[in-house]
Amino acid sequence: MQTHARLVIIGAGIVGCSAAYHLARLGWRDIVVIDQGPLFATGGSTSHAPGLVFQTNGSQTMCRMAQYAVKLYGELSLDDQPCFYPVGSLEVAYTPERLRDLHRRRGWGRSWGLHSDVIGPAEARAQLPLLDDSKILGALAVPGDGIAKAVRACEAMARFAQAHGASFYGRTPVTGFETAGGRVTAVLTGQGRIATEQVLLCGGIWGPKVGRLAGVSVPLTPCQHQYVRTTPLRELLGETREVVHPILRHQDKAMYARQVGNSYGVGSYQHTPLLVCPDDIRPHETWVSATEITEKDNNNAFPQPSAISVASVATWDMPSVMPFTPEHFDGPWQDMAEILPTLRGADFAATMNGMFSFTPDGNPVVGEAPNLRGFWVAEAVWVTHGGGVGKAVAELMATGSAEWDMRDCDIDRFEPHAHSAPYVLARGWTQYDEVYDILHPLQQMEQPRPLRTSPFYARQQALGAVFFEGRGWERPQWFESNVETLKRSNVQTFNPRLGWAARCWSPIAGAEHLATREHIALYDMTPLTRCEVAGPGALAFLQHLTTNQLEKPAGSVVYTCMCDERGGVRSDVTVTRLAESEFQVACNGPADIAWLRRHAPEDGRVLVRETTPGTCCVGVWGPRARELVQPLSGDDFSNETFPYFTARRVYIGEVPCMAQRVSYVGELGWEIYTSADYGLRLWDLLWAAGQPLGAIAAGRTAFDALRLEKGYRLWGADMHAEHTPYEAGLGFTVKLDKGDFLGRDALIRAKERGLSRKLCCMVLDDSAHVVLGKEPIWADGQVVGYVSSATYGYSVGKSFAYGYLPIELASAGARVEIEYFGECYGATVAREPLFDPHGARLRS
Ligand code: FAD
Repeated sequence: MQTHARLVIIGAGIVGCSAAYHLARLGWRDIVVIDQGPLFATGGSTSHAPGLVFQTNGSQTMCRMAQYAVKLYGELSLDDQPCFYPVGSLEVAYTPERLRDLHRRRGWGRSWGLHSDVIGPAEARAQLPLLDDSKILGALAVPGDGIAKAVRACEAMARFAQAHGASFYGRTPVTGFETAGGRVTAVLTGQGRIATEQVLLCGGIWGPKVGRLAGVSVPLTPCQHQYVRTTPLRELLGETREVVHPILRHQDKAMYARQVGNSYGVGSYQHTPLLVCPDDIRPHETWVSATEITEKDNNNAFPQPSAISVASVATWDMPSVMPFTPEHFDGPWQDMAEILPTLRGADFAATMNGMFSFTPDGNPVVGEAPNLRGFWVAEAVWVTHGGGVGKAVAELMATGSAEWDMRDCDIDRFEPHAHSAPYVLARGWTQYDEVYDILHPLQQMEQPRPLRTSPFYARQQALGAVFFEGRGWERPQWFESNVETLKRSNVQTFNPRLGWAARCWSPIAGAEHLATREHIALYDMTPLTRCEVAGPGALAFLQHLTTNQLEKPAGSVVYTCMCDERGGVRSDVTVTRLAESEFQVACNGPADIAWLRRHAPEDGRVLVRETTPGTCCVGVWGPRARELVQPLSGDDFSNETFPYFTARRVYIGEVPCMAQRVSYVGELGWEIYTSADYGLRLWDLLWAAGQPLGAIAAGRTAFDALRLEKGYRLWGADMHAEHTPYEAGLGFTVKLDKGDFLGRDALIRAKERGLSRKLCCMVLDDSAHVVLGKEPIWADGQVVGYVSSATYGYSVGKSFAYGYLPIELASAGARVEIEYFGECYGATVAREPLFDPHGARLRS
């Protein structure tokens, strides 16, 4: 057993092996991979995944990682045995609603460059003859999907890594870690101590337990998942090939199926989620498996029909396998038999109740632990994404950034409550339960709520706020009390919304929109993540992390990008210089705070302190904003004394505040911050003073439409790490001459290269059509981009969308089409922003 290594990877499942493989390809040597089980059928989840790979996903990153995995597994082989069978897939529609949704899913595929088609029942049956086409309405067919041989792929990748200097050790459980100065320094195992500077945890369902040994939280819950293999099917007698049929999903009944030689494998998500506490997983020492050899030979661990009898399956014993519970499979089995009638004549030849991981939002957890340097995590990953996650985490470790934007998988994306056991369980439960459901992008989680409320919550409730949840916060979306405003407004004359665009929405938001433009509205901005960056090194530190010039007098406000090494927009933030060495940074979530902390110098010259909890903020916006705030304050809110993009400490009544003159809705006004204890008083003062002026409280639906009319970008939708500020139309925030900063070299190169694509505004021909986001954009019969944001703008009377277009199309007047649930809507590229292009209202 080695005593030193550059990196120790814990877990030789699909993720650990993929990471070792990719790091070896990046030139890393001296890697040790350890697993508590025997190599390579370790007894982890990978050992019993039947390997179905469906690439379609609403997340571009998840789809990309699956696409990459398909390519990778397709190129790998083990002793001339393939690691991937590209048999294609069918997701069938049992209901009209599902059929419609399949068109939406095909749209995602097109947006992300994945070929798929919606086909009729007969065509589906032609591909999968066992299907009863009279029971289905159609199917989404993805020819590139298929079956991954996960254990085989593990061994193939491990062999490559071994050939490039990596060592693999089975039967080597991790028992602890040594740390010093906030860094990991050694891994303790059953076979001895390994001194190391880096650890990568790929422990699957054991991840939370192993992480805890190092004080690192891994927010996932193990879930049981039932899968059976049938006795041989009449139609497949004599079939010697392992799989030729496309893999199948029957999502309306939460089921899936695949051919396994002359039988079928059927899996179910239909039963109530059966969660397992990580501490209750049996220790590996109890695993005395006579089937070890068989598992490996059978690859994946599910035994071949000819190789194992039902009796021996009954003694199946692995630490990550629970007793099979037939009562959870009876109903699902009947449901599957309805569309695969041949199952009625079959029995269970083998049953499996394995475990795998679900996080609070269903996506993997990837990145360096925020509280322990050198301790990396790649957890809650399906075989489907194992190839891609291995590549991404290897790039992050080797270069600091990945080829793909990783925001959906970032270990830093969780708020503190998301690491609590009740939250992980409640959300993990829902993720499992809804895994095949048709979900509206704004569909709200029901529990646990409410978690975080602003000081204005009671007032908002009294006004009939309809709350949506975001990062735990209850955020008003619109206020039912504004129905009177709606009656008075001319919103009724606009086209009514239909279908999905009308869900999780109210015309009241339109009235709030117009009231903000015409009079004044109060917006609760408390959930906006913000932190204080202070200390003698604060300015130099922030200058290094941002693209804009922050060396400005106290009281200045600067909008800027934070880029990564590749010049990609890591985030966009608003930096307020409160004093010589004190800044407020308003950002996009906990990942930004973690990014700042990670880059902060270790000498204590810079303090990064999150201030979101304990403070609150009201946005007072509209042409009458000055009329509202001035009488409440002895401070001067005139344009001369308090110009646009400046901040001052002021009093509103008795309440000490920091007010900054910025507006994400594009109107005159201020963000007014105070501590939470004064929050209610602040709200009440503003509310009372606003009533004679016609002030209303307004919600985020109006807010989003207002910001889009002004062309204000939303990070995570309109730009992310794969876009440069130039492409996003944020070149004005890049001051290459201010000195060195993170991403500067890449941005210089990007500027020299010129733009090949650009974020554009497209106005739909028919203003009754409102799209949701992520839809493909077509031009000349090709998909040329996808929708990043979309809305109906009540002030401009237009339905419009944003998206990146090739530079040839990025000029006003160019024609495109947006595909929405299978229909194509014509649109024209427009000069942006659509509303108040010179910002006169902001500066009034
Ligand atoms: P694992 O394969 O579990 O590997 C983790 C490794 O860490 C284990 O080998 C374990 O022994 C080791 N380890 C843990 N603790 C320690 C320690 N203290 N010391 C040393 N080693 C340790 N996914 C798909 O994409 N398609 C499917 O069709 C599919 N079907 C599935 C069906 C079932 C029944 C199940 C259970 C899962 C299925 N999955 C499927 C999910 C998929 O199998 C897993 O998500 C994936 O294999 C997880 O890979 P991993 O490398 O993270 O974890």
